[in-house]
Amino acid sequence: MGTFDIHKVREDFPILNRTVNGKPLIYFDNGATTHKPKQVIDAIVNYYADMNSNVHRGVHYLSQISTDAFELTRRKVQAFIHAKNEHEIIITKGTTEAMNIIATCYGRPFIGADDEIIISAMEHHSNIVPWQMLCDEKGCKLRVIPMDEKGELDIEAYRLLFSDRTKLVSFTYVSNALGTINPVREMIQIAHERQVPVVLDAAQAIQHLKIDVQELDVDFLAFSGHKMYGPTGVGVLYGKEELLNKMPPYQGGGDMIKDVTFEKTTYNELPFKFEAGTPNIEAGICLAHAIDYIDNLGIEAIKTYEDGLLAYATDRLSHIEGIRFIGTAAHKSSVISFVVDGIHPYDIGVLLDKLGIAVRTGHHCAQPVMNQFGIPGTVRLSLAMYNTKEEVDIFIAALERAVRMLK
Ligand code: PMP
Repeated sequence: MGTFDIHKVREDFPILNRTVNGKPLIYFDNGATTHKPKQVIDAIVNYYADMNSNVHRGVHYLSQISTDAFELTRRKVQAFIHAKNEHEIIITKGTTEAMNIIATCYGRPFIGADDEIIISAMEHHSNIVPWQMLCDEKGCKLRVIPMDEKGELDIEAYRLLFSDRTKLVSFTYVSNALGTINPVREMIQIAHERQVPVVLDAAQAIQHLKIDVQELDVDFLAFSGHKMYGPTGVGVLYGKEELLNKMPPYQGGGDMIKDVTFEKTTYNELPFKFEAGTPNIEAGICLAHAIDYIDNLGIEAIKTYEDGLLAYATDRLSHIEGIRFIGTAAHKSSVISFVVDGIHPYDIGVLLDKLGIAVRTGHHCAQPVMNQFGIPGTVRLSLAMYNTKEEVDIFIAALERAVRMLK
């Protein structure tokens, strides 16, 4: 594990050298996607220049080295989240696909009419809609853990949501709209005391916090490569072996079969049972380079740096006249959401963009969160390891200017 040198880190991300609207880019939209270090970009070029071939198929050399590189990612992910077995790592398109696999392949066979699924009030749409689709199909019901005005979940209310009919619990580790870090260890324990399996959405957590699936004893975990400095089009579904083994496949096609005849098909073993068709090979292979990048710096060092930046940005923002933070939980990571009295978030976003500053405005794919706070959306600053205090200072000056103009 190395030391965290922000100057060196920034040199690794070529896009940080570009300008936007004549100003140096300041990118605070990392919750939407992160930029990629040159180690990942080079690996993408290298894949096509040197390896390009389908995986798990050919006896020929290129297919073998592509397969080896793709399978190396699986082992890197396994080590990164400390999964017990390599075959518990399913390579998906991203978090959304992982959630849909669970809703389809666990939900359809094991959750029936009048059964209940618990989610929380702060979920991303990808951890709401797949369950609603299941409920429409099977007649099961969603129960929602309430959230208070700080954006913290009510754990006592959560305990009371369980019934004999509770079949699954699914919640986010870190809220992409509010930045709240949920007490997931305690929440998993509460579900397990009632023999209910838990799905953890780690899309906003994996790039900021150390995650150990065995220590958490979580049953399923989902995250996306593009939010952890890796390519788009790749993500991970971790599942405990015994659960994945009893689930039917998600899609049918090549790679997920053992034998096919017109009379009967037998399915492949884990993890291939859930990986039908040609995967996004390049992204799969290059996710390993993103993991290496994080590992070389050390996730703890990244977290310490980002936590300092979060505290600094929060403090500086608190002096903006008329600001209202949306989400003031005691434990937060990487995200600051806010509104300014009398100004639409979108107008702030447009003015900041003119100054080269990228923020996200809107509901951040978490409309129920906005509804609870009675707002259409927020301005969201989502930080990554390459952001700096100097960028925060420029942003604050720009925001002050925008607020003066829009008031
Ligand atoms: N959950 C959370 C908490 C997220 O932040 C995101 C991405 N913004 C998702 C799920 C969905 O991820 P993806 O679009 O990569 O599938």
